[in-house]
Amino acid sequence: MEEKVDLKNTFKLFKRTWKYAGSYRKYLFLYGFFSLLMAAISVGVPILSAQLMINMTSGILDKLLLVAGSIFGLEILRNVSNYFASLAINKFRIETLNDIQVSLASETLNLTVKELDNNSSGVFIDRLSKDASYLADLFNMLTWYMGQVLTNIGVLGAIFIVNKYMFLFSIIVLILLYWIERARIRNGYKYDKQIRKLNENNSGLIAELVRGMRDIKVLNSAHDFMTKIIGRIKEANDKKYEMQIKRNGYNFWYSSVRDLSDLLFIVLGVYLIYLGKLSIENLVVIYMYQPRTYSMLYSITSFIEELKKFSLSSSRVFEIIDGAFEKEKFGSKHLNKVNGNFEFKHVTFGYDENMPVLNNLNFKINANETVAFVGKSGGGKTTIFSLIDKLYTVDKGEITIDGVNINELDKDSIRDNISIITQSPYIFNFTIKENLKITKSDATDEEIEEVCKIAKLHDFVMTLPDGYDTLVGEGGLNLSGGQRQRLAIARALLKKTEIILFDEATSALDNETQKDIQTAINNMKGEYTILIIAHRLSTVINSDRIIFIDNGHVLAEGNHKWLIENCSEYKNLYETELI
Ligand code: ADP
Repeated sequence: MEEKVDLKNTFKLFKRTWKYAGSYRKYLFLYGFFSLLMAAISVGVPILSAQLMINMTSGILDKLLLVAGSIFGLEILRNVSNYFASLAINKFRIETLNDIQVSLASETLNLTVKELDNNSSGVFIDRLSKDASYLADLFNMLTWYMGQVLTNIGVLGAIFIVNKYMFLFSIIVLILLYWIERARIRNGYKYDKQIRKLNENNSGLIAELVRGMRDIKVLNSAHDFMTKIIGRIKEANDKKYEMQIKRNGYNFWYSSVRDLSDLLFIVLGVYLIYLGKLSIENLVVIYMYQPRTYSMLYSITSFIEELKKFSLSSSRVFEIIDGAFEKEKFGSKHLNKVNGNFEFKHVTFGYDENMPVLNNLNFKINANETVAFVGKSGGGKTTIFSLIDKLYTVDKGEITIDGVNINELDKDSIRDNISIITQSPYIFNFTIKENLKITKSDATDEEIEEVCKIAKLHDFVMTLPDGYDTLVGEGGLNLSGGQRQRLAIARALLKKTEIILFDEATSALDNETQKDIQTAINNMKGEYTILIIAHRLSTVINSDRIIFIDNGHVLAEGNHKWLIENCSEYKNLYETELI
């Protein structure tokens, strides 16, 4: 079913892609103009070349020079046209690709976190890079093939004028060759689809290989990882090989028919000359055109092939834009300033709907309170943070911010007012200053320094060779866990959000760093609503309130003293830590 080109759908996709060409279309028209000029030259040159050969063989030397000069002139014109055509098409391609990629990247950022959980990163990487690039190539490919087809129609027209029998012969050969080519393309399309899916998985795996290289080394699991990768790469390559074998078969038949037709061409030519229906001069002209007629076929079939690839790539790209993947949904209510009062009312949520992680969860947070969440790992604490920031949507119940259901709020009301500092915040491969400016692009140097002082980061930055302009390496690899968290705290402070959600690092930070982070949080207390996921009770015993989360619901809440006296699970947890 998908082996045929669905013309209607392809045209629709084409029209959508054309929109991205926007103001760059003028470059495409320029390219079209030069391509047409080159096409006309391609029709003209064989006629002159044939004349050249005839003049050479019959010794007409004065005309010979004139014809050779004309050919030279036309070839120079072709070169110049080619130069400008390349300039125009490259400009067009780059600009269109920019627009497509920018729009795709921003659409990708609108996808739900659930989609990112469920899909390999390769799904998005390949579509953003390879498929988008294919879309941008469409127009130059289209114009190029149109130029080719026009050239070839010109050539066929010329053959028709010179000799009708030869024209008929060329058409029959073309139909035969087209048949073989069509079969090859249909077969290729089937494979292409499978190979792209496999490549997508590989891209994801390769991205993980690069990102996880440190852990692979530390775990000494290069061998196991490679075994896995090799298996997948082999699968994709085997498919490619299978496709190549089939393609070779088609190539064999194609070349054989072509060679046979070359022979038959001469036989027919000689026969027509014998019958007096063709002159030697005209046979030479048609002979010069012969390779062109084959290239016509190549142009048509390649064009169909490219259209299929385009339709595949564009549907993959538009899938992201059109919502084959779930996009985040927000309400329309806007809160300029959030005070920081939260309430979870009978909240039930599961990553998989049938397996709730949070079960009828109820609690209330008042503005400017510092509240800690404690409990066994896997109890649902991080999930609570993700729900507050609306990275996921609750299945049942509701979460309110300042009394408004979070589902009714627009994106800015939530995300501009809440900062999450995760256990291992993502630090981009920018300078420290640029990493901070992500949350506030117009932040001044003074502002940056001020927040870094509160976050206890400034002194460390001052020890770096380029200070705030030091590059921190991909994923912040050149920073320690504690430094990354302090950078994230500084980011949050710069954003000036009222609500800060802090997921304390589980990894044991050295005492000094621990103290610095604690001081950073203490510096913020009272002015912000701070929620902390505590993995060490010692860091949160001074919080206004501690909520003990167990198996997705609140087991007990109160201050440290109260919990020690009234909650045996909390007391146990505290005592284990003292050991
Ligand atoms: P805590 O922060 O208390 O350690 P989490 O909220 O991280 O607990 O996890 C609660 C449960 O949800 C765990 O069983 C965990 O495996 C599961 N979980 C967490 N994140 C995801 C996710 N993105 N997809 C599926 N399950 C998840």
